[in-house]
Amino acid sequence: MKYEGLIFRPPSEAESLILQVTVGCSYNRCTFCSAYREKSFRIKSFEEIKEDIDEISSYGQGIKKIFLADGDALIISQRDLLRILDYLRTRLKGLDRVGVYANAKDILRKDLEDLRALKDGGLGIIYLGLESGDPTVLKRIKKNATQEELIRAGRKVKESGILLSVTVILGIGGVEGSRAHAEQTGKVLSEMDPDYVGALSLMIVPGTPIEREIETGKLVLPSPFGLIQELETLIGNCHFSRCFFASNHASNYLPLRIQMPEGKEEALKRIREVLRRKDPDLLRPEFLRAL
Ligand code: SF4
Repeated sequence: MKYEGLIFRPPSEAESLILQVTVGCSYNRCTFCSAYREKSFRIKSFEEIKEDIDEISSYGQGIKKIFLADGDALIISQRDLLRILDYLRTRLKGLDRVGVYANAKDILRKDLEDLRALKDGGLGIIYLGLESGDPTVLKRIKKNATQEELIRAGRKVKESGILLSVTVILGIGGVEGSRAHAEQTGKVLSEMDPDYVGALSLMIVPGTPIEREIETGKLVLPSPFGLIQELETLIGNCHFSRCFFASNHASNYLPLRIQMPEGKEEALKRIREVLRRKDPDLLRPEFLRAL
């Protein structure tokens, strides 16, 4: 497999085989993200991808899940994506699901019918970074999408029948914007009604523009219990028909796995108890936190 640079994948794709179909992120300007800063974006040629798929198929037919890297593989033209999915199905008979990262613009560029065709071709899940539902935060972190575009993108994925997994970042609104960030993010998530939500806590990567905001005091990060208060407000504002909500990412102080809606009240009770006791021993220790 010819991987270029560091490869990232969602935690839930840990057992998937990673097929790199693009290099980097076509946008690459979110202020908190350093994942693809060193890479010049390009879409790999079908010939390159085909060679990797041929190699994968030589590993045997036990591969069930494939994740298409890097940052926003949905940017690939409809014709070429269908060609990749088609070739994957031809070579890997046991393949159950293909996943991709996508941004709101990639999703909105596709018609509903295009997304349905991708689903029929094997695309089973789209991971969308929302980060925040608060328009002020979205602008400040240069998310390249408005609140309204993000909601439309999320709903479109749901309507296509492809599973939708959405990532949000606790702390990204700072102390001052914490409440609005949590409330607005809960509201936007509820309107999307995703299948999965993954909550991360902001960790500052050296060299990113957001690090400068912190150094200059423009952004003040909430304390660990401030982040947990944010989680409580966020969950309280989430109203889903059926969603698995996880804050078990290594960056979080309080790992939770909640099946919503039935597990919501129990989770809120637990969070409120942690907030009442304010005992640091109830939190994941700082040295165990990671991106
Ligand atoms: S967060 Fe996503 S869209 Fe933004 S720069 Fe990073 S990979 Fe690209």
